[in-house]
Amino acid sequence: MQGMMMQQPLRISDILTYAAEANPNAEIVSVRTEGDIHRQTYAETLPRVCRLAHALRGMGVQLGDRIATLAWNGYRHFELYYAISGQGAICHTINPRLSAEQLIYIVNHAQDKVLFVDVSFVPILEAVQNDLPADLTYVIMTDRAHMPENSLNALCYETLLDGQPDHFDWPVFDENTASGLCYTSGTTGNPKGALYTHRSTVLHALIVGNVLGSALPKEGKILPVVPLFHVNAWGLPYTAPLLGMSLVMPGQHLDGASLFRLMDDEQVDSAWGVPTVWQGLMAEIDKQGRKPAGFSDVVVGGSAAPRVMIEKFEQMGVAVGHAWGMTEMSPIGTHGNMPRWVESLPFDQMIDKKSLQGRRVFGVDLKIVDEDGTAQPHDGTAIGELYVRGNTVVSGYFNNPEASAAAMDADGWFGTGDIASIDPHGILSIQDRAKDLIKSGGEWISSIDLENAATSHPGIATCAAIAMAHPKWDERPVLVAVAADSARPSLEDIHAHMSEHFAKWQLPDDVIWVPELPLTATGKISKLTLRRQLTDYVLPDLR
Ligand code: ADP
Repeated sequence: MQGMMMQQPLRISDILTYAAEANPNAEIVSVRTEGDIHRQTYAETLPRVCRLAHALRGMGVQLGDRIATLAWNGYRHFELYYAISGQGAICHTINPRLSAEQLIYIVNHAQDKVLFVDVSFVPILEAVQNDLPADLTYVIMTDRAHMPENSLNALCYETLLDGQPDHFDWPVFDENTASGLCYTSGTTGNPKGALYTHRSTVLHALIVGNVLGSALPKEGKILPVVPLFHVNAWGLPYTAPLLGMSLVMPGQHLDGASLFRLMDDEQVDSAWGVPTVWQGLMAEIDKQGRKPAGFSDVVVGGSAAPRVMIEKFEQMGVAVGHAWGMTEMSPIGTHGNMPRWVESLPFDQMIDKKSLQGRRVFGVDLKIVDEDGTAQPHDGTAIGELYVRGNTVVSGYFNNPEASAAAMDADGWFGTGDIASIDPHGILSIQDRAKDLIKSGGEWISSIDLENAATSHPGIATCAAIAMAHPKWDERPVLVAVAADSARPSLEDIHAHMSEHFAKWQLPDDVIWVPELPLTATGKISKLTLRRQLTDYVLPDLR
């Protein structure tokens, strides 16, 4: 028997119309490329989004068209999210840190119709313009007074909005209509597109709003350092308005000092980003001898947060939520809002638990499988490749049947490429990306574990553990490290520090000091680049 309840399709436009009515005074505060700080409430944002939606329609945009953005975190980018998806077109966010080759591939693969670009990224487009579709329309996201000279024959964002009606009749369509498109960074092969739907996006916003606890303080201020140009800034442009939180958008200055100043001035409660960003902020906190005023919560994810970082934040009264996810998962899969029994453990044990990747969000199932595809128990010991399934997980890649088939198992689960264990409390522990695990003498060593132990050495600021080929052992670990100061610790000293947690054969064979580590387009340490840089490297026992 069917129940007797109404069914309304889940729509992204409803989030903003709801926020404008229920949370009208919460703000979007943006550091603009124009150089100033701009503020507007959700109530003021809705009519601007309506005008933008009319402008897009006037440009001939239709249901299913891909409309691209190449922009920092700011209110105009937020407006595009809603104006594009709200009318049934697809908001295709592009990561400006991708290579020219990847950018050209993505825009052509997506067949974008219009491309909205921040002033600072205009030169990137001018450089590749001849390789982009000839009929692509460009819009620069500024006002007339700040329009730069350009060869794109570009329109002006604010001029487009001028004179458009303040109200837009948001169309009703199937909730499985595509709403957003984001390509993976494509560390191997061509980037692959995750094509989100209205349903998956609204569900993700509701789910995240439900699980991240104090990191989403009621009517608080939240700083997404995670970019709107990649994986929807972990869903914050949807979750924040829904919950009535103000968004503080940092624009282009993401160094520790700039973030500290902005957080301090705006009294940001909760900040979200990848570990490398918090490394910069932490250095500034050390320099100033205090944390930014009001700062009480940090969400860190995208790669494993070093234990020592989690410990330092917690010691200064900043609660850490360690989250795990993927572009293909909208992105949040697990979260570090721990149960009470973890919070009440002795400090060190509590930090140990918080260093893990937390529990799954409702609606995402996890399984770990061995090499034969057999599901392994969630006993905290068994290790296997992690597969996921749920309403916020991709069912394949946009226009890419080959990659789609390779990603899914026979039962329709998506293979993450991560190696993990899950304990009886449901807490996930990511051991490594399958391709980063180090195989020595037939045994596996987790690079994440090595890095965690090494970065807790006071002489090491940051490091990456990578595998080097070895004729006898297959692979051996080496550390590539940035020193905390001029006094570099010796390898013996590092071994002594790490040996508490590792057998002798698991310790790195060498430490290679570098001034800085290369980062990927999403701000993670790029082991691929490191391996390329070290192709001529010879392990000490082979010299
Ligand atoms: P990008 O965001 O760079 O496109 P992906 O979506 O491919 O990258 O990144 C997802 C991967 O990042 C995961 O499969 C996992 O390997 C890694 N990752 C994300 N969060 C964490 C975390 N908290 N701990 C460890 N690894 C993580």
